[in-house]
Order: sequence, then structure tokens, then C-alpha cells
Amino acid sequence: MKIFCIGRNYAEHAKELGNDVPTDPVIFMKPKNALLGSKAPFYYPAFSNELNYEAEIVLSVSKNGKYISKKHAYKYIDLMTVGIDFTARDVQKELKAKGLPWEKAKAWDNSALIGKWQPFDEIKLRSNVNFSLEKNDEMVQDGNSSDMIFPCDELIAHISEYFSLNIGDLIFTGTPAGAGECSVGDILKGYLDNEKMFEVEIK
Ligand code: ZN
Repeated sequence: MKIFCIGRNYAEHAKELGNDVPTDPVIFMKPKNALLGSKAPFYYPAFSNELNYEAEIVLSVSKNGKYISKKHAYKYIDLMTVGIDFTARDVQKELKAKGLPWEKAKAWDNSALIGKWQPFDEIKLRSNVNFSLEKNDEMVQDGNSSDMIFPCDELIAHISEYFSLNIGDLIFTGTPAGAGECSVGDILKGYLDNEKMFEVEIK
């Protein structure tokens, strides 16, 4: 099982981090150990002083495939939810400045949180899936699938040009504007179309 993540898939978020809007999807991966168990506590990582949340729509792959066409892309997805791509932003800034890979900032143990799975709804995802994140009961991110620079069918086609998709793989589809810091004691709640998908405390 592998976790694909998309960087800079919302123009406003790319701008807030000072990045250009990409012409091709930015892809990175997290290993299996990055997935936080559903009942497991989340601990602030010891190597960072700037932990950021990034709320994202997450898709679950239901079929093996390679070179998947955009037209057939959604046949490979059966579940969706909201998750957090936790990022050690201070570490990432250092790595980016040196032109180094991002794994130490993005792919560490428990850095991928997912909510409860919902049936995948292709029509809704194409038009309008709203998702949001609350920190201590205040909304900090509010996104919509229609604002993605690369829609999910395009992402699946692009990923599968380079990597086989396998049953159980996850795709984090990028974060909208508002990604920001969290501290020990913060409570994060993720919503998909106003329904709560997860609640986690930073320990
Ligand atoms: Zn992300």
C-alpha cells in the first residue's frame, strides 16, 4: 500500500506558500507507516517547531491499474473522505531551500490522517464536494473540489503514467488555502459536506 499526495493543487494555496501555479501535477509519496491508525493518538513530532495541517480530499483505490485514461479514472476509486497531510513546514522550508527531497517534512510516521470512508460519488466530486477543517471549533480551511487545478480524473491518469495503482492505495488530492500551524492541545475536526469525518487532538 502506498500513499500518493498532490502538492499545489489549489491556486490560492500555491500562492500562500510562494509557489508558482504548476503546469503539471506535483506528486510525492508517503510510505505505509505514515498512515495514522484510526484510534491511534497523534503526537507533535519532536523534530519540528512548525507543524502544519493540510486538509485534503482523500480517495481510496479499488482496482489495480497502470496507464489509466482520464475517461476511465473513476472506475478505480470506490471510497472518499477528508484527511490531513501533516507537514513539518520548518523542515520543508529548509529542504526546499537546498533543493532536497521532502520526505523528512512530509512522509514521517503518522503524518497521514484519514477520516471515515464514504462511498465515492463521481458526479458530486466532478461538480461540487465541499470540505473543511476546524481548529478548536473555528473554521480554518474551507475547500471545494471544483477549485482543484487538476481534477481527480486527471490526477489518476497522470499518477498512473509513472506508478501502478494498487488496491488500497490512497490519493491525497491537495490542500486549499488556509493551511496553517497547530500546537499541542489543539483539536482538529474534518468535514465532508458538513458531515464530520474525523476529530483528533494534537498530543
Ligand atoms: Zn498536502
